[in-house]
Amino acid sequence: MDTSLREKSDFSPVRWPNHAYIGRFAPSPTGPLHFGSLITAVASYCEAKSQHGKWLVRIEDTDIPRIYPGSESHILRCLDTFAFEPDAPIIFQKDHLARYEAVIDQLKHCNLVYACQCTRKILGSNAIYAGTCRNLKLDFKHQAIRLKVTDQQICFEDALQGQQCSNLQQDLGDFVLKRRDGIINYQLAVVVDDHLQGVTHVVRGADLLDNTVRQIWLGHCLGYSQIQYMHLPLAMNAQGQKLSKQNLAQALDLSQAPQLLAQAVLALHQEPIEIDQPAIMLKQAVTQWDRSRIPQHQIHLSGIYQ
Ligand code: GLU
Repeated sequence: MDTSLREKSDFSPVRWPNHAYIGRFAPSPTGPLHFGSLITAVASYCEAKSQHGKWLVRIEDTDIPRIYPGSESHILRCLDTFAFEPDAPIIFQKDHLARYEAVIDQLKHCNLVYACQCTRKILGSNAIYAGTCRNLKLDFKHQAIRLKVTDQQICFEDALQGQQCSNLQQDLGDFVLKRRDGIINYQLAVVVDDHLQGVTHVVRGADLLDNTVRQIWLGHCLGYSQIQYMHLPLAMNAQGQKLSKQNLAQALDLSQAPQLLAQAVLALHQEPIEIDQPAIMLKQAVTQWDRSRIPQHQIHLSGIYQ
């Protein structure tokens, strides 16, 4: 397998001269932003700005059936109200489907992907894909597209969670980049856009930790530069459940923005910031930012977030 493929498409990454840190916040509009999303936004913003880096925003909206009506405009209003100002225009993935198709073509040329006709029914609950369609040479039309993985340990050093390793062949198998219904999978879109936006550092929730080795492998197959990762502990409510869209976490109440911002900073175990206009509060949060204070495992919200 040729795993050192060079850039062959017409899409080239943004260059950020003199900036060693390009961070980003990449919410999916599958529900309104909640307090857990705010913690991620604050941490990614403060990490980038405290290192004199740039901070970008990308709306991850390729999975059209899962888009929750109104959540995109809620995300944009939140960014505005909390004074998160990205350093480049916001990218909406659904406007860039051609770039993902171009990357799939690159991978096809190098024989790194194949068409898969297995339905969910055939696969059952088996979490590890056995490579059933790998050598069938099926036509790509109307089939899922899977990326080949190899039997090797891939490791990375997470800035908060320490060393993480996985053998993709043994733990997961070849994985889907494009679904049968034509939807571009998150794994593909995230890797391509982080590369094209010139992202160097990703700060996001630990619920995405498992995806990271897949993304590193795909980036490696495409010859992209390696990104640094920091996975934040998940925020747990008083009942011990993680705050998530699936658990119907409450949407951020924009009339409480300063209070919520102050609470998000506390949830990350930072020095408290004074209640003021969000732009002023964010500046203080950046000045006081100390990554070594972030808890590694869980953020307990009882007593912080009411
Ligand atoms: N779009 C993903 C989400 O909202 C986050 C992706 C990422 O940060 O890599 O859960």
